[in-house]
Amino acid sequence: MSNTETGQFPVTKSDDEWRRELSPEEYHVLREAGTERPYTGEYWDSHTEGTYSCRACGAELFTSKEKFDSHCGWPSFWAPLAEGTVRYLRDGTLGMERIEVRCANCNSHLGHVFEGEGYETPTDQRYCINSVSLTLKDAEQPKDAE
Ligand SMILES: [Zn+2]
Repeated sequence: MSNTETGQFPVTKSDDEWRRELSPEEYHVLREAGTERPYTGEYWDSHTEGTYSCRACGAELFTSKEKFDSHCGWPSFWAPLAEGTVRYLRDGTLGMERIEVRCANCNSHLGHVFEGEGYETPTDQRYCINSVSLTLKDAEQPKDAE
């Protein structure tokens, strides 16, 4: 899969740079749109309060306030941290129409978003995100910048 969109994003790196900076599993998910096996990730059942940022570039993407128990085996959120932190792409692989979710800052793959599944959340959307695409910053740890 060639990436013809290189250059449009605040954080742009070559494949070689990503390979050096990310573990093989992180590279596979973030840069090759892979999927971690369900119930194996670090955060699928985490209830720790905090902010989830992009494992590739550090942009803040989701918070524990919008995380909910979907029991699907991946961390699930009903909304991103803010409009514009993620971008959406049509994904027709696997013979079905899905919406891919990527980091708007570095264009790394995060997961998919599904709608209308009947979850009791404010949006009835499920951002089904790979743990390996995220880093959780614990809310109880003091932030450097403040
Ligand atoms: Zn990113």
